[in-house]
Order: sequence, then structure tokens, then C-alpha cells
Amino acid sequence: LSEADKTYLSNSIREIEDFPKPGIKFKDITTLLGDAKAFHLLMDHLVERYENREIDYIAGIESRGFIFGSALAARLRTRFVPIRKPGKLPYTTISEKYSLKYGVDAVSIHIDAFTGAGKAKPKVLLIDDLIATGGTATAAVNLINKAGAECIEACFVINLTFLQGDLDIKKTTSVYSVLEV
Ligand code: AMP
Repeated sequence: LSEADKTYLSNSIREIEDFPKPGIKFKDITTLLGDAKAFHLLMDHLVERYENREIDYIAGIESRGFIFGSALAARLRTRFVPIRKPGKLPYTTISEKYSLKYGVDAVSIHIDAFTGAGKAKPKVLLIDDLIATGGTATAAVNLINKAGAECIEACFVINLTFLQGDLDIKKTTSVYSVLEV
């Protein structure tokens, strides 16, 4: 991605102060999705990065990871798996808990999510829109491994680098962020 393209992409993301809580600057990617040049610049860049990699599945984290992940899976003609909040998936699930500042949360996946490729250890690319503390993505990588697959990379549109959320997850998989802010 050229510097000009990065700037265009970065400017297409709206920032909302104090959402959903005071002190949080929320990166609103709906404005990126609503800008055809930005959306397809991003998708073309991800296709170029991953088209020659062996990827059996793209796993997207609820909910904005579904948007980028399924769009990329369609472009790469590969499979898509949703990683969701507990209680949302209808079939038998496995879960992975992670701690938040106040309390705990978890991510879930269908127990047979990675069986369709007919391989012992299918290769998975994890996608989400943003990495902040890294708690969600680290739990998602652990969950992918628990479900019998191998996470080859975790990919984010935006990395809030000041939080250093990628430090932990880098112990288990490689990390790629399109934009670092
Ligand atoms: P974390 O587990 O702290 O890395 O948080 C990552 C998850 O929360 C991702 O699914 C993001 O979509 C969402 N998230 C966290 N912080 C922000 C933010 N400042 N703007 C938009 N989404 C955020």
C-alpha cells in the first residue's frame, strides 16, 4: 500500500470520541465501508498479501471481522468461519475466556468449524477490524488452535499501537496490521 493509499484509507475511518464510554476514541469503519475507493483499496491490498498463501479458512471475529473476513474469503475463494460471543452459535461450541479490565468475556466457535477442508491441521487466517488490548484476538487464536487448526496470521485493519496489544499474540502467531495508529 502506498503512503497516499494509506492516508486515504486512514482518512476514510471516522473517529467518535467517548463511544461507547467516556475516554474511548471509537474507530468507526462504517465510513470506510461506505467509501467504494477505500473499501476496495483495502480488499485489493489484502488479496495481494494473501492470494499466494495456503489458507484453508478465514476466521472473522464478531462482528466487524465478519465483514472484512467474509469479503476476503470470497475474493480468495476460500472458506469462512465466524468466531462469536458466547450463546450465539446454535450447534455445539467450544469457548475461550479472556480477562477484561473489569470482568471476563469469551469467544466461541462451532466444534466442527474446521472439519470441512478434510485436513488434519487446516491453516487459518484470523481477521478483525481492530486490535486494542489484544485480549479478544489472543483468545481467538487460542480457540482456533483448540479447535484443531493452525492460525498462520492475525490480520487487523487498525492497530492501536500505544496499547501494545500485539505483544502477547505475537508469542503464538504472526501479526499484520494495515494501519498503525
Ligand atoms: P481488544 O480485545 O482490547 O483488542 O479489543 C478489540 C475488539 O474491540 C475488536 O473487536 C474491536 O472491534 C473492538 N474495539 C476495541 N477498541 C476499539 C476502538 N477504539 N474503536 C473501535 N473498536 C474497538
